[in-house]
Amino acid sequence: MEEPVVTPEALIAEARAAGVGRMITVACARNEWAPSLALAEAHAPYVAVAAGIHPQEADKEALVTAEELGELAQNPLVVGLGETGLDYYYTPDSKAAQRASFEVHCHVARTAGLPVVIHTRDAEEDTLAVLRNFSGLAFELHCFTGTARLAEEALALGGYISLAGIVTFKNAKDLQAIARTLPQNRVLVETDAPYLSPEPVRGRRNAPAHVPHVGSFLAGLWQVDPTEVAEKTTENAFRLFSRLPERPCDS
Ligand SMILES: [Zn+2]
Repeated sequence: MEEPVVTPEALIAEARAAGVGRMITVACARNEWAPSLALAEAHAPYVAVAAGIHPQEADKEALVTAEELGELAQNPLVVGLGETGLDYYYTPDSKAAQRASFEVHCHVARTAGLPVVIHTRDAEEDTLAVLRNFSGLAFELHCFTGTARLAEEALALGGYISLAGIVTFKNAKDLQAIARTLPQNRVLVETDAPYLSPEPVRGRRNAPAHVPHVGSFLAGLWQVDPTEVAEKTTENAFRLFSRLPERPCDS
């Protein structure tokens, strides 16, 4: 059954009521860049943008250029570049295009001092190989579902690990074991909405207001208070996405 249409205004209000003061909307293809920027402009300072070309789109569009990404990076509403990265699970036939696109994102982001939002699936070795070539690059592995080794190597390269609703799933024991050991100053929480709603709202359409469920679950793994996870992950997000507008005093 299809769920009713919700407006951005309603989603933002619901998120703010849940204590979520800042949201990054992710524009993953050229035709999403302008609408996402318009949304952020209309809802500043609550909404900011990460923009790029998703690896699954990498061979469907012309290779992204440094000029295009450089122009995005100059926009103050853009706080990161991506999603970019490598997905050999869904799109194993476009490895070369994905890698070329990923490298352009990394190059421009490092030059601009912006972080990259990385999507990686079934491509750990090649993802790490690219990241090693861009030392000093700020990045997060978004919606992390990788191995302990990937987490360790990403952390050693200065990266952040972002956990989405998947970590709350009953069958995600391996991921939970990794999450338990992550350094608290390098972890982010996200929704990846509208996908992957966390427990206890799994199966429903995901929304930014659900991100506290991920934090609460993590608090259980870390055996700390949920407010501590909220504070740590918020601090981490502002450190990584340094262009995000100042922390709100009203949430
Ligand atoms: Zn992704």
